[in-house]
Amino acid sequence: MLDDVDLLVCGAGPAGCVVAERAASVLGWKVLVIDQRNHVAGNCYDSFHSSGVMVHNYGPHYFRTNDADLLAYLSRFTDWVPATYEVRSSVGGRLYPFPINLTTIERYFGVDLDPAAAERLLDSRREVFPAPANSEEFVRGRVGRELYEAFYLNYTRKQWGRHPRELAPGVCGRIPVRLDRDHRYVGHRYQVMPRAGFTALFRRMLRHRKIRVVLDCPFREVQNLVRPRRATVYTGPVDDYFGRRFGPLPYRSLRFDLVPHHTRFVQPCVQINYPNDFRYTRSVEIKHVTGQTHPHTVVSYETPTAAGDPYYPVPAADSAAMYNRYRDLADRETTRRRVHFCGRLAQYRYFNTDEVIQEALSCFQRIRRECGDRVPSASSAAVSA
Ligand SMILES: Cc1cc2nc3c(=O)[nH]c(=O)nc-3n(C[C@H](O)[C@H](O)[C@H](O)COP(=O)(O)OP(=O)(O)OC[C@H]3O[C@@H](n4cnc5c(N)ncnc54)[C@H](O)[C@@H]3O)c2cc1C
Repeated sequence: MLDDVDLLVCGAGPAGCVVAERAASVLGWKVLVIDQRNHVAGNCYDSFHSSGVMVHNYGPHYFRTNDADLLAYLSRFTDWVPATYEVRSSVGGRLYPFPINLTTIERYFGVDLDPAAAERLLDSRREVFPAPANSEEFVRGRVGRELYEAFYLNYTRKQWGRHPRELAPGVCGRIPVRLDRDHRYVGHRYQVMPRAGFTALFRRMLRHRKIRVVLDCPFREVQNLVRPRRATVYTGPVDDYFGRRFGPLPYRSLRFDLVPHHTRFVQPCVQINYPNDFRYTRSVEIKHVTGQTHPHTVVSYETPTAAGDPYYPVPAADSAAMYNRYRDLADRETTRRRVHFCGRLAQYRYFNTDEVIQEALSCFQRIRRECGDRVPSASSAAVSA
């Protein structure tokens, strides 16, 4: 039994790394971080393809935030390069800026427009859904049926394996529609990439004399062997933790096919969406934003799948209801055993990286408040599900 650890962290993704770093740096706690994968950084992991080109192994990660304090915190562990995340959608063999903007509308309808004229055009196409109940109604109410069918319908179907009618309004609704020529994927104040990559950033975060990292280590292997004095932070799937007793939470998975090319660039921008062609949803040439100078490039083709690693919690009513049952168990586990559930998988919620880091900082503050000033007996802090 290992009982000289203050904090046990399951998962060396962004959430686990941040809590571990804070506990070690601020409180001087001894932290053990374990991960079942053979690397740190979770889904933000990047690495060098055999060609020498940096790739994002689990899909493109575009770092963006509006929070200057959060950026300052992360800047302790990395320098940054400025980045422009530009996405185009391939519709009928032509590339259009996406999210839809003034240029998209002009090109699609073959007319020159100013913002007021574009608004009038959309107004003439919009359908009336006073209280949109799902993503289809939301988008048709915003841009009309034609643009919905061209840009959203099949992309969403491929991405989620469900019709937009079965998905909450916010799934498609969070993608903006712009009546200006802003061609950036997102509108955040800070859009930057870690100069040496995400893996280097999180490795550096964990480089602390009070933090030990054990890789290739599933939680179940240490669950009954490590008895943390203070708390446990669990960032794995919440349903796994509880033995899937209410059934498995549904996830969407992805397959990534990396194709190297002996040329500097293949695509005009970092990401091309394919709503209506192919089985893959998008092709990503991450080199456009990593800042790497290299004579070759690699394009990743992303195909959504039902089975595989859990990537996206499915944002639908049935999965939310199941998650709520697990969340009740998780809340009880936090109270009884000081096991804190934090992150994308543990909270069954899609977070961008800045958002999950914010969650992890809040989680750390909760732990600090709850047990920062007292040393619980080893037995009361035992980890078991
Ligand atoms: C395809 C894709 C694209 C994305 N693009 C962006 C983007 O452009 N910009 C952005 O800001 N965010 C993006 N994200 C979101 C980003 O990946 C997450 O916000 C972030 O990785 C969540 O961090 P986390 O620590 O909660 O989870 P994860 O990164 O998933 O880390 C969890 C870790 O826990 C480990 N683990 C799980 N279960 C166990 C267990 N039982 N035992 C041991 N270890 C375990 C896993 O191996 C993993 O390393 C994207 C996500 C995906 C899937």
